[in-house]
Amino acid sequence: MDTDLFVAWFEETARLVREERDRLTRLDAAIGDADHGTNLDRGLTEVCKALADSAPESAAEVLTTAGTTLIRRVGGASGPLYGSVFRQMGKALLTPVTLAGFSAAFEAGVVAVERLGKAALGDKTMVDALAPASRALALAVRDGVSVQEALDQAARAAAEGAKATIPMQARKGRASYLGERSIGHEDPGAASAVLFMTALATVA
Ligand code: ADP
Ligand code: MG
Ligand code: MG
Repeated sequence: MDTDLFVAWFEETARLVREERDRLTRLDAAIGDADHGTNLDRGLTEVCKALADSAPESAAEVLTTAGTTLIRRVGGASGPLYGSVFRQMGKALLTPVTLAGFSAAFEAGVVAVERLGKAALGDKTMVDALAPASRALALAVRDGVSVQEALDQAARAAAEGAKATIPMQARKGRASYLGERSIGHEDPGAASAVLFMTALATVA
């Protein structure tokens, strides 16, 4: 897992988010303030620019640059939350990057967002997609599967996790203001987390 792979990860995520921007915004219109697609589209465009300008020399640098840019450039809650995932991953990632090292760094990123957002599994947030993806990665490392298979499994786990947010009542973020009316809609942040994981499996 080299530096180019990590740059490609953010480029592919930017492309997917652009493609799915209106769907993400529609999900946020149902239980939030209808800006999640535009927030992330703008943020990831800025991430790609920052990566092109800074020519990062390690995967950790890619992650730190991406995280810092998301925190600075995305107004909504998702900017600081995703930003902290990637900054923490950048801090935790050892070189050369192995699947086991990536899995450990990803877990550190998920713990960071759980802390910052005070969110746990079942609160109907991005954590509901990210935590299952992290668990799938850890199991894949244990089972000794290939990088490609591990990332495919992580993407599938994220997608299942996002789908599982539909019947949940939101306990964090704007959607929680709706109480029971948040039930019956997929969480937009969980949906975008699927795009991050799908993008990684695609470029691997
Ligand atoms: P905002 O709510 O500020 O408009 P976005 O629309 O960009 O920000 O992002 C909303 C998403 O952020 C939610 O769908 C949810 O997944 C995530 N989110 C919001 N608050 C939290 C939190 N406290 N912990 C974890 N994730 C959260
Ligand atoms: Mg919003
Ligand atoms: Mg907003």
